[in-house]
Amino acid sequence: MNENAPQNFTPLSSLGEFGLIDRIKGNFTPRNAEVSKGIGDDAAIYAIGNGEVHAVSTDLLVEGVHFDLSYVPLAHLGYKSVVVNLSDIYAMNCVPFGITVSLALSNRFTVEAIDAFYQGVKKACEFYGVDLLGGDTSSSRSGLMISVTAMGRGRAEEVVYRNGAQVNDLVCVTGDIGAAYAGLQILEREKSVFLKNPEIQPDLGGFDYVVGRQLKPEARKDVIEELRTANVRPTAMIDLSDGLASDLRHLCRDSNTGATIYEEKIMVDHQVHTIAEEFQIAALTMALNGGEDYELLFTVPLDVFERISMVKDVYVIGHIEDVSAGVNIVTQSGGFFPLEAQGWNHFRESE
Ligand code: ADP
Ligand code: MG
Repeated sequence: MNENAPQNFTPLSSLGEFGLIDRIKGNFTPRNAEVSKGIGDDAAIYAIGNGEVHAVSTDLLVEGVHFDLSYVPLAHLGYKSVVVNLSDIYAMNCVPFGITVSLALSNRFTVEAIDAFYQGVKKACEFYGVDLLGGDTSSSRSGLMISVTAMGRGRAEEVVYRNGAQVNDLVCVTGDIGAAYAGLQILEREKSVFLKNPEIQPDLGGFDYVVGRQLKPEARKDVIEELRTANVRPTAMIDLSDGLASDLRHLCRDSNTGATIYEEKIMVDHQVHTIAEEFQIAALTMALNGGEDYELLFTVPLDVFERISMVKDVYVIGHIEDVSAGVNIVTQSGGFFPLEAQGWNHFRESE
């Protein structure tokens, strides 16, 4: 039998991104005792002694998949590449201290362009108090690729994993969501207008907030610090990179729970509503499936309700249920729907 016969190959689309990660994870159980979390959370966690841990997380950004240089300024891209990784460190309730940045570049980039990228990297390092520790540089034949790894530290007992949610816990989200996706729609629209008629200048007027959320997101360092001050430790946490629906399902799957959330409790900026109307997409769809918000989704015990209500920019949007209940949303009109995970699956058949 020919092992290479096409019928023996399985298309990646049959697994999807998350299925593929599960498959890899199944083959690599950590063998070192200091590793308390390997594959499967926002960052890996390993003990460094005296009750201290380090957190490490990595992300790969690929031109044409994650960003489009026709409307993303390189300084913003440098900033965002760092921030999306720091967000994963905060999502473990750890504090980042270092990054490495690796680039694959083609000749079309100038020294000035790379300087601009690193200005963004530097700005993020300054704002979040992290050091650029190294990286790697390669040539590329197919666009720009950016790989950033972030490292953080924390106390073992303070680390928050995705899998700690308990029935009756409150489900909390920071800030408003759907804005980064709405901003992307505006940038894509202006790009297609420009391609049809280069005389027309982009019109981003009135949409500065959502465009900013897409081009220059922030990690919720502030909320992590405020939770610490308020003496609230979440039971489970994840950052919102794929979209609330997908990320809540991850958290519930790992915690072996269900959840109910309420549309009326979810913060959505008015610019998102305006854009949703213009593009004829429900604002709720943008909020649930948009992704790239880099807000935090976490759960806390019911008895800290008063304390959590005092923390700025944290909203209680629902509660954790038994696994048998599933993961559902109650809409403003009283509908009750299972949350479909439509996060960005890079291997979707249609792509
Ligand atoms: P996030 O969105 O928080 O960055 P991902 O969905 O990218 O998380 O990854 C989930 C988990 O899978 C993480 O623990 C990550 O390190 C791991 N992971 C992703 N891709 C791979 C891979 N190719 N090999 C090993 N682990 C991976
Ligand atoms: Mg994450």
